[in-house]
Amino acid sequence: MSLLDKANNALTRRVRLKTARSRLTAPVASFTFDDFPRSAWKVGGPILARHAAKATYYVSGRFCDRYEDGLEYYSRDDLRALYAAGHEVGCHTFSHRRSPRVPSRELEADFDRNQVFVRDTLGDVVMSSFAYPYGDASPRTKALAGRRFPVSRGIRSGVNGRTLDLGQLKAVPLEIRSWTAKAVEREVELARQTGGWIIFFSHDVSEAPSPYGATPTMLGHALDRVKAAGIEILPVKHAYARATFG
Ligand SMILES: [Zn+2]
Repeated sequence: MSLLDKANNALTRRVRLKTARSRLTAPVASFTFDDFPRSAWKVGGPILARHAAKATYYVSGRFCDRYEDGLEYYSRDDLRALYAAGHEVGCHTFSHRRSPRVPSRELEADFDRNQVFVRDTLGDVVMSSFAYPYGDASPRTKALAGRRFPVSRGIRSGVNGRTLDLGQLKAVPLEIRSWTAKAVEREVELARQTGGWIIFFSHDVSEAPSPYGATPTMLGHALDRVKAAGIEILPVKHAYARATFG
C-alpha cells in the first residue's frame, strides 16, 4: 500500500455517509473470508460446521478456478456448496482492484459483473454485503459502495460499537502475519462487554497459510473464544439486520 493509499484510507474513515445507531441488545460476531482461496471453504467450512457457525464469503469472480501466488481459489461448485450450506455470499468486486484507482463507472460495472457471475452460478441471489479489495476506499468509492450495498466492510481493526459505520465496518484480522491469541481474546472480551459487533476476516485456512491466511487452530481459537463469551455468530447480512432493525 502506498503513502497515498494510506492517506486516502485515513481520510475515508472520517467520511461517514451511512452511520447507524446499533440496536443490538447482545453482542454478535461474524466470520468472513475474502477473495476466496479454496481452503477457506474446504478446510474452514468443516471448522465452522463444528461450531455451528455460518460465515460470509466475499467473492471476486476473477479468482474462480484460478491458481495464483501458490493459492488455489474456489470453483463454482465450491460456491454452490457453501451457499447451500447456509453461508452468505458477499461481493468483493469482480476484478479485485483497489477501488480508489478505478473510475466510478468502471467500478459500478465491476459490481454488476460480479453480480452476474454470482447469479449465473447460484441463481437468483442478490449480494447485499460488500468488502473492499485490500480494504482500500476513498470518499468517492465509499459513497458508491454505500449506495449499492446496505453494508460494507473494511479492514481497520476493531470492534463495531454503538455507532456503526455501515459504509466501512471495522474487522479483526485472522492473518498469521499479525495474529496473536491475546489480541483476539482482548477484542472478543471488548465485544462481550460493550455489546458490540465483532467481525473477523481472513483468506486461506491451512496448516501453512499465506501471510493473509489462518491456520485451523487460529480459526478454531477465535470460534471457541466467541462461543465461550456467549456471543452469537451470524453472517454479515443477518448481523446487519439485527444491528439496524433490532
Ligand atoms: Zn481481497
